[in-house]
Amino acid sequence: MSQHNYDLIVIGSGPAGEGAAMTAIKRGWTVAVVEEKTLVGGNCTHLGTIPSKALRHSVQRIMQYNSLPLFRVIGEPRWFSFPQIMESTRQVIQLQVEERTRYYGRNQVRLYNGRARFVDDHHLEVTSPCGVTKTLTGRYLLIATGSRPYRPDDIDFDHPHIYDSDTILNLDRTPRNLIIYGAGVIGCEYASIFAGLDCRVDLVNSRDRLLSFLDDEISDALSYHLRNSAVLVRHREEYARVITRPNGVTLELKSGKKLHAEALLWCNGRTGNTDRLGLDRVGLEADHRGHLQVNDHYQTGVEHIYAAGDVIGWPSLAGAAYDQGRFAAAHMLGLDDEGHVEDVASGIYTIPEISYVGKTERELTQEQIPYEVGRAYFSGIARAQISGEQTGMLKILFHPDTLQILGIHCFGDQAAEIVHIGQAIMNQPGEGNNLRYFTRTTFNYPTMAEAYRIAAIAGLNRVARNRRGEPCKREQRPDS
Ligand SMILES: Cc1cc2nc3c(=O)[nH]c(=O)nc-3n(C[C@H](O)[C@H](O)[C@H](O)COP(=O)(O)OP(=O)(O)OC[C@H]3O[C@@H](n4cnc5c(N)ncnc54)[C@H](O)[C@@H]3O)c2cc1C
Repeated sequence: MSQHNYDLIVIGSGPAGEGAAMTAIKRGWTVAVVEEKTLVGGNCTHLGTIPSKALRHSVQRIMQYNSLPLFRVIGEPRWFSFPQIMESTRQVIQLQVEERTRYYGRNQVRLYNGRARFVDDHHLEVTSPCGVTKTLTGRYLLIATGSRPYRPDDIDFDHPHIYDSDTILNLDRTPRNLIIYGAGVIGCEYASIFAGLDCRVDLVNSRDRLLSFLDDEISDALSYHLRNSAVLVRHREEYARVITRPNGVTLELKSGKKLHAEALLWCNGRTGNTDRLGLDRVGLEADHRGHLQVNDHYQTGVEHIYAAGDVIGWPSLAGAAYDQGRFAAAHMLGLDDEGHVEDVASGIYTIPEISYVGKTERELTQEQIPYEVGRAYFSGIARAQISGEQTGMLKILFHPDTLQILGIHCFGDQAAEIVHIGQAIMNQPGEGNNLRYFTRTTFNYPTMAEAYRIAAIAGLNRVARNRRGEPCKREQRPDS
């Protein structure tokens, strides 16, 4: 057994691990990353964010081709199978892996392929896929092992018609119909993807509305558009049992309903990858969801062992994981640019796309904070008319007296990009966070960013009318 000493050893090469490794190596530390997959990039690149977003992009392109009159000149609508769009997804994954492998190589981060397990609080044992074991010694350690789909014991995930968000990528056909159990972000995104491939989808939701953390209006819009693409959303339902057949699956619900489909996609929860790390050897314990507790500097209960990314729970997003990894390393190094992930914009890549930052109307009402609303409908925006992506809305919530922006909610094409313009203004200190920024700034034309000016003017007009005691006029062209 050979010995290898490093300033920092990172377990996991997802965004959290990469963020930490790159920060530390740039400051002259010796850094090793241990990854049990043969290729770097984490679940983010191989199983989660990248494949699902690449699949969605292909589906959206197919939908555009099939619906825009322009393309009828060159041919009739075409349908693609899941394996066909998975082929182009694999190319994106490969590009990502190549890029990330180059970063590690160029920066001389030492990569170990194998599963890491604690020996004690400074030593890891790494077992390679062919069973060779090495011991690594680290002054600091970062646990960035991510998460995996939660699998209840009573469901047979070895059955060829039952999938989770990892195994669905191996699907070798497009099912005619699909049950998705769990209508969280991943369930809703896959509902959009499969509906776009003309597969009939039953989306089973245990709650009484879709993505209840969203602003109600946006959640309603999502329900409307999923319904329009033939997704049947079943609210307030829970599974009683799953019965498998040679050619499909029956999902029995506690309400007595029986849903039959060619395949079942289980999207109900995730669990942190902590169970095989040997945490007991360093005196750490994960909670019932496999998550580790950390302080504001991403330190676990053991001072020199940090944790970041999905393994610490909220917000379980790739961008946040990368920053948490960077901030954890910055704290180890004693750097000034250490931070903490708090203000997170969420992007939900359904069709149409959704994104938001800040408070919802419901939250503001509950907290008794007065607010006014400014909306811009994509149907009236030149750039959206040109792109043919006229479904959508930008909604700004702001304080009627101070004009401070309190929340930005957007759905429609490029929503996840658009929201960051508002987020940048919202994060300005003091009076810098002011709706008037959007009425005083000249935007490129035509752009989707123009929606901010339109929404801000609409909101200011409402405030002015309220002050004059006039009734609010009906807004034009609501398409939500
Ligand atoms: C279907 C799906 C869609 C998603 N879409 C989005 C999205 O659109 N936007 C977004 O921001 N987020 C999205 N996410 C979430 C995002 O993928 C995660 O937040 C992100 O991957 C977390 O990064 P991480 O670095 O914590 O870990 P991961 O990316 O999970 O990587 C952890 C790595 O650690 C390795 N590992 C685990 N245990 C060990 C061990 N003992 N030894 C060695 N290696 C080990 C694993 O092999 C893995 O490669 C999505 C997730 C899923 C499942």
